[in-house]
This record gives sequence, C-alpha cells and structure tokens, in this order.
Amino acid sequence: MEKSGRSAWWHGGVRFQCQGSGKCCVSRGAVGNVWLTLADRQRLARTLGLPTATFTRRYCERVDDQWRIRDSGPDCTFLKDRGCSVYEGRPTQCRTWPFWPENMGAKQWTAVAAFCPGVGQGPVIPRERIEAVLREQRESTAQL
Ligand code: SF4
Repeated sequence: MEKSGRSAWWHGGVRFQCQGSGKCCVSRGAVGNVWLTLADRQRLARTLGLPTATFTRRYCERVDDQWRIRDSGPDCTFLKDRGCSVYEGRPTQCRTWPFWPENMGAKQWTAVAAFCPGVGQGPVIPRERIEAVLREQRESTAQL
C-alpha cells in the first residue's frame, strides 16, 4: 500500500463511474495533452493494426522530450462521436482518469467534478484501488 501520511478526504472511498461523456478528452488549456509512454504507443498501434513506428509518425509529436498525441485542435484526435475510438488501447493517462495525483486535493477534485459527470456516480471506489491507480499514473509519468 502506498505511504500516504495524513488522512486525506478520499481515504473513505470515492464514488466514480465513467459516463462516456468524452468531456475529459477535450482540451482545457494545460490539461489538454495526452502523453504517451512507449507501452502506450505500442498498445495504441496494436489497436489500430499499425507498426509502432507508423503509429508514432502518423499520430504523435515530441514535445519537451516526451511523446504526446499530436495536437489536432481542442479535442483528442481519437474522440469520435463523443466516444474514444481506441478505447481498448487507450493511453494510461486516460485509463487512470480521474485518479491523478494532481487531482486529489479537495479543491482540485471540486474542479474535476464540475466538468466530469462520472464523479459521484456508480459504486464507491475503495482507497486501496485509488492508491493503485495513483501509483500506476505516477509510474507511467516517470516513463514518459
Ligand atoms: S485517447 Fe481516447 S480516452 Fe484518451 S483523450 Fe483521446 S479520445 Fe479520450
């Protein structure tokens, strides 16, 4: 289990279930980037039936020494009809949403809840599961 020191507001669990709104796939300034590890690019390439190099050339760009999905406007390039067209192979950043370290402050979570309709829906996600997702997101960020 992750060392978390003091008790945090989410330690009692958080109700969340994706509603498929696509609202987290739309750019809102600094949070609009979809960053990709090598494993993310390989998985996405497989999903699209492409060699990783071809996928990377066609859909990615390198910014600040890190790969991201090429910026093609305010929405993610894979968002089609308000849904993810590569859902099975979607990047770690998308799979771990909204349990990102930078979202877990009470104030930041309120901001997430203001646009993400999945917050407050579905079953309670227990602390242990949230900690595992936070860990996955941190490890993924370290591999960028
Ligand atoms: S890859 Fe899919 S889930 Fe991730 S931002 Fe793009 S459309 Fe959304």
